[in-house]
Amino acid sequence: MTDTPTQLFIGGAWVDAADGATMAVDDPATGEILCHVADAGPKDARLAEEAAVAAQEKWARTAPRARSEILRRAYEIIVERTDELAHLMTAEMGKPLTEARGEVAYAAEFFRWFSEEAVRIDGGHATLPDGRNRMLLSRRPVGPCLLITPWNFPLAMGTRKIGPAIAAGCTMVLKPAPQTPLSSLALAAILKEAGLPDGVLNVVTTSRAGEVCEPLLRGGRIRKLSFTGSTGVGRLLLAQSADAVVRTSMELGGNAPFIVFEDADLDKAVDGAMVAKMRNMGEACTAANRFFVHTSVVEEFGRRLAERMGALVVGPGTRDGVDVGPLIDRNGRGKVEELVADAVERGARVLVGGRTPEGPGCFYPPTVLTGVDSGSRLMDTEIFGPVAAILTFDDEDEVVRRANDTPWGLVGYVFTEGLDRALRVSERLEVGMVGLNTGLVSNPAAPFGGVKQSGLGREGGRVGIDEFLEYQYLAVPVG
Ligand code: NAP
Repeated sequence: MTDTPTQLFIGGAWVDAADGATMAVDDPATGEILCHVADAGPKDARLAEEAAVAAQEKWARTAPRARSEILRRAYEIIVERTDELAHLMTAEMGKPLTEARGEVAYAAEFFRWFSEEAVRIDGGHATLPDGRNRMLLSRRPVGPCLLITPWNFPLAMGTRKIGPAIAAGCTMVLKPAPQTPLSSLALAAILKEAGLPDGVLNVVTTSRAGEVCEPLLRGGRIRKLSFTGSTGVGRLLLAQSADAVVRTSMELGGNAPFIVFEDADLDKAVDGAMVAKMRNMGEACTAANRFFVHTSVVEEFGRRLAERMGALVVGPGTRDGVDVGPLIDRNGRGKVEELVADAVERGARVLVGGRTPEGPGCFYPPTVLTGVDSGSRLMDTEIFGPVAAILTFDDEDEVVRRANDTPWGLVGYVFTEGLDRALRVSERLEVGMVGLNTGLVSNPAAPFGGVKQSGLGREGGRVGIDEFLEYQYLAVPVG
């Protein structure tokens, strides 16, 4: 912690906020203040934007191989410093160290992946159908970008955006979530060490997100917004982006259905449920939010899931053997408590958990609710906590209809041993990603993203870099 930067990173330099403001970063396991970081205002945001704009032209002309090698070096530094970065993330966000180490590896992989993509940006050359004209097609960086990230994956949500932006030749202003600024600042220090030129990445930590971001989106110099966060904030930012016709990528919320058919392998289904529900304490956009379990297996599935959930150890993420850390803050925990209370009032039965422990920190126990009424609030709200809500169904058409009956469409999980049904149901789900007999879909080599109100665009995979590139077409007459 002692070496972690706490200032803004603008034009390659570490600076205080212009008005000297700072904000506290809390440890969610104790509620105590870990440290203070600079709290940027609109003036700092303008300076960060100017640095990004000034660096853009030269950066766009850098050899793709040079951009690739910076990413590769940063990947290696992150891997070398896994332990240090994992401790930092656990301190500010709460996740257990084993999960934090997993996130460091996941985050680093985006840099390795995009270091390989940076040198594969291609174009085209064709004679047009009239035979009199040629088309030369090239790809160019979209320009200075604003990147806004949430607190739940403090490192990976940053590298998933910064990696393709660097690979494409874009400069950036990154605004991380105020709960978890330290991981982003550490990342900026690593990229500087890896040789990233000044001004290509600028980081503004702030408690005044609206004041800082809106002028950048409306100002006309930022050409791209890449946002990960809730659908409500995403909608607001889309509206703000409209004035200057800013290109957007939106990774928004989810309401994932997790469907267990009567022919599912229940061992696989329970293993999958543990991952889909408990990764990151349930604070993931991909978290299974609604468990639809066939009536014939619901009792057995519920019993086994409750047994596994009840065996998890809850405590501070830094303590050995802990599986479940605290939730991010009191607001986050309060929302989970309200959703559980509402479901119970409407007749749900608590198989395990469901009671907030006494004492400091924002802990909430792994909880399984069964017999959940489909009118319960948690059916159309992201729970964002360690609560599995089980409903029953009787036939395929019915479950597909209910699974799709939501404005979100990020991910769905399907458990069945029947190949035909597996493919048919997956194709009928209105989602961007499906976990088929698995509870984990996230992978840097796969396109991550949703349909409907879960977002626009994809991150990662072969298409991840496209979000940061434009086409330019040259018309050339055939001589
Ligand atoms: P959030 O409240 O939407 O905030 C996300 C980011 O947006 C934070 O940095 C936040 O800063 C900032 N923000 C909020 N209002 C803003 C404004 N008016 N102008 C500019 N920035 C603004 O979401 P969260 O609670 O941090 O994260 C959880 C949400 O993220 C969930 O809905 C989850 O599903 C979603 N998520 C989606 C994905 C995906 O890939 N689809 C991945 C991870 C998380 P402040 O906190 O200071 O407002």
